[in-house]
Amino acid sequence: MNINGDYHVHTAFCPHGSNDKIEAYIEQAITKGLTELSFTEHAPLPKSFSDPTPDKDSAMKWADLDQYIQTIEKVKKDYQSQLKINLGFELDYIEGYESAITSFLNDYGSVIDDSILSVHMLKTNMDDYVCVDFSVEEFARIIQLFGSVEAVYDRYYQTLEKAIVADLGPYKPNRIGHLTLIHKYQRKYAVDQGYQFTIERLLDIMKKNKLELDVNTAGLYKEECLELYPPQAIVDLASQKGIPLKPGSDSHTAKTIARGFNKLSLLTNN
Ligand SMILES: [Zn+2]
Ligand SMILES: [Zn+2]
Repeated sequence: MNINGDYHVHTAFCPHGSNDKIEAYIEQAITKGLTELSFTEHAPLPKSFSDPTPDKDSAMKWADLDQYIQTIEKVKKDYQSQLKINLGFELDYIEGYESAITSFLNDYGSVIDDSILSVHMLKTNMDDYVCVDFSVEEFARIIQLFGSVEAVYDRYYQTLEKAIVADLGPYKPNRIGHLTLIHKYQRKYAVDQGYQFTIERLLDIMKKNKLELDVNTAGLYKEECLELYPPQAIVDLASQKGIPLKPGSDSHTAKTIARGFNKLSLLTNN
């Protein structure tokens, strides 16, 4: 895997991130010796979708979208001799909102260099939605709602499969974000199975749909997870299947650019 780029980076346009300046992220990338950086801010949620998180802070505001694009386009030019900067988004796949997501992509696809499709939101049996990675307290509530930790994991992986096969038009992101995000609180809420078979099946479907894998180091630093998204064995399996791997720090602060990438270089030659 080429670890000279960080392909999953947020910015101050993210309401749950830091206020670090865009230049600070870029300078840190240059200091770390990177040659490429993808800004993948959480795309605004569909207008008809109500953010289920207690703080309603999951994604960039629609009002900030044009400024985000202008900001990244400017730094792309300003730093072009030092660093290849990609303008992108991390898009939420939300079951039932496929047409709104597709229309966002159709509207903005022409300016997108690189993007990620992720599942953070799950549809419940009561036809509303929950966000799985907001907090350990919120996760506890979600377990209550679904009845068991396993039921939450099952719904997550079912939703991920829908994301992988969804027809979101010509600008559908070609990379799946943090495949095992649902394991974020695994040290607090253990599950009685490894999901190895489920995940391997998803990798096969990803391969068939020509999708790349976000090898996301953020989980290594979450105290209830302490694991790569997805773990090393899965990354190796993906590599054997010929799925392209792209490292991402999922930084919401400048100082965490390329964090943990030194551990990735040993992983695989893909
Ligand atoms: Zn975020
Ligand atoms: Zn994410």
